[in-house]
Amino acid sequence: MTDTSLDSIILDAGHGLGSPKGWGNYREWVGNRKFARSLEIYLAGHNAVDMINSCPVDISLKDRVEFANMFPKSIYISIHSNGSANHDARGHVVFYYEGSRKSKMLAQCISDELTRMSGIPSRGIKATRRLFVLNKTKSPAVLVERFFHDNDEDLELGNSPREIDTQACAVSQGILNYKRLVGDL
Ligand SMILES: [Zn+2]
Repeated sequence: MTDTSLDSIILDAGHGLGSPKGWGNYREWVGNRKFARSLEIYLAGHNAVDMINSCPVDISLKDRVEFANMFPKSIYISIHSNGSANHDARGHVVFYYEGSRKSKMLAQCISDELTRMSGIPSRGIKATRRLFVLNKTKSPAVLVERFFHDNDEDLELGNSPREIDTQACAVSQGILNYKRLVGDL
């Protein structure tokens, strides 16, 4: 049983079986989970909690938030890939809840490392109040869109084992940089 009183890093791989988001043979939920596992390895020893783990079914956004809010001393990382109407958009972007200073700091730390290390172009950080999981989580929270899965170039690179590893390394480094900056979650 996970100790919810510890400083924790909550990893939430978006979507699940029955959530048809994807492009060609690519299923976003599969890619998100692969990435979460990679990230968890990089965060070994830092109390990362993979919320979804091996459960293939989708979990409602409400349940995801309820789970995250059981950990009062945590940060929350939602993992996704992006889509666009015309399929020519590229890049990674990190969303944060508008008005949360710590969430913005966390988003910037992660985006900086992704920009430095990843082969996917950077779209920087974006403030929003339209994402349920960011609005409702109590802890500093960000949503990482790793690449555009409906752009052929982004998908080929973003879904390659090497880039998954590179981006996992970058996101973990960004998280640890943030932890050093704030001292306490
Ligand atoms: Zn998604």
